[in-house]
Amino acid sequence: MRTIDTIYINGSFVQPHGKEEAALFNPATEEQIGIVRLGDEQDVDKAVSAAKAAFAILSQSSKAERIAMLHSLHDAVSARAADLTDAMREEYGAPASFIGFSVPHAATSFLHMASTLETYEFRRRIGHAEVEMRPAGVAAAITPWNSNYGFICGKLATAIAAGTTMVVKPSEMSAIQTQLLTECLHAAGLPNGVFNIVNGYGHVVGAALSAHRDIAKISFTGSTVTGRAILQAASATFKRVTLELGGKSPNVILDDADLDTVIPQVLAAGFANSGQACIAGTRVLAPESRLAEIHDRLAGAVATLKVGDASDPEVSIGPMVSQKQWDRVQSYIRLGQEEGARLIIGGEGRPEGLNRGWFVRPTIFSDVSNDMRIAREEIFGPVLCVIPYRDEAHALEIANDTVYGLQAYVFSSDLARAKRVAERIDAGRVVINGAPHEPLAPFGGFKQSGIGREFGTYGLESFLEPRAVLS
Ligand code: NAD
Repeated sequence: MRTIDTIYINGSFVQPHGKEEAALFNPATEEQIGIVRLGDEQDVDKAVSAAKAAFAILSQSSKAERIAMLHSLHDAVSARAADLTDAMREEYGAPASFIGFSVPHAATSFLHMASTLETYEFRRRIGHAEVEMRPAGVAAAITPWNSNYGFICGKLATAIAAGTTMVVKPSEMSAIQTQLLTECLHAAGLPNGVFNIVNGYGHVVGAALSAHRDIAKISFTGSTVTGRAILQAASATFKRVTLELGGKSPNVILDDADLDTVIPQVLAAGFANSGQACIAGTRVLAPESRLAEIHDRLAGAVATLKVGDASDPEVSIGPMVSQKQWDRVQSYIRLGQEEGARLIIGGEGRPEGLNRGWFVRPTIFSDVSNDMRIAREEIFGPVLCVIPYRDEAHALEIANDTVYGLQAYVFSSDLARAKRVAERIDAGRVVINGAPHEPLAPFGGFKQSGIGREFGTYGLESFLEPRAVLS
């Protein structure tokens, strides 16, 4: 049992003023593994004051100084990659493939920002104006549990690159991971107050940050419902906001696709991070002409997937993060059947042989129509909907008929054709034929998947305010 009873303010681990506590669990065993003491509004005030004092210094720092800080942060996080991996496995239960991506991704986000900074011009001339990109002011980051290290490191890297200090409110369900990461960040030896980390509930610490008069910018990743609450709270003081929200991504199989290579990629996109991914390709759009073949292959491939404890390297789907998340996914599996969708594989309950842990049977529905709730709402578990389409135009109509627009996937043997289809999908990112992540390209959603972009120059500029001086 671990007890986490400190938060991080002004360069020190301190006891929070808040007295509330939350239990921490291993989702593979359902056992309680720790307890975290949570911060409150007074802790937020202290953290914001520290960040405000440090802003006066960081905002005046040189590019070279910020690049040096980013390199120190990278080195400090990389140095404890093994510990970070263990904590993520125990407290979150992600499969080895996802942890293997997440931990290096978190560390290298500092290097990516350092390289963005190297070539970024903070001052430019436009006609007779001198335009300066200034740090926006003290920022807050509010992050979810499904990739704790990556979201904290990515947002912090961008803030520092912009010369902006930060208060981070991570998910209260990730406190063991956060504690370890904070120790790494502390070891980087940055000036006090540049970053501050306050554990706490969303409706307490998150809400206090969203309304705080000294916070100028909020970078949030989480659900669309919470994003809306933050946007409303932020509007009172006209904070700048970046919102990275939910998705219901189309996973479009064109009729010329080579199913031998495509089916494993469709499942990798759909079941990424055990299905607990905003970018999961959960609506599989399948041509009617090949529907039977696609059903067979999907069912065959899912039957070979191993669900279980992430300490087993052969496991590709881990547990849901919490009992609440498990219940939610079960309720959608029930709902799909009630709505008249056909189960091809999976269903309610735990997979065979697993009688504890928040494990879900990887589930595929077919005969799904795009107006069913299982096709419209984010389930956030390993549950996919196969939606048949007649022709390319019909596929595009279905792909875009959603309130979301975060990411989309297109599979075809003809790259030019895939690009033509990709061009007509309303999403912040379209991935063709399983292309790998590009860390410097913009990431973010259209429509209700968010506002603004992260990564590279686009992310950096979201922490900056342009100012023109005319002479
Ligand atoms: P969530 O919205 O419940 O919580 C996210 C964070 O917001 C947590 O730290 C939470 O404590 C805080 N919060 C909750 N209520 C708040 C309030 N009123 N004011 C301020 N902060 C508040 O989301 P979650 O369940 O932790 O994560 C899953 C969701 O995140 C999914 O919808 C998923 O799609 C989304 N997500 C989006 C992206 C992206 O990049 N677009 C990435 C990962 C996850």
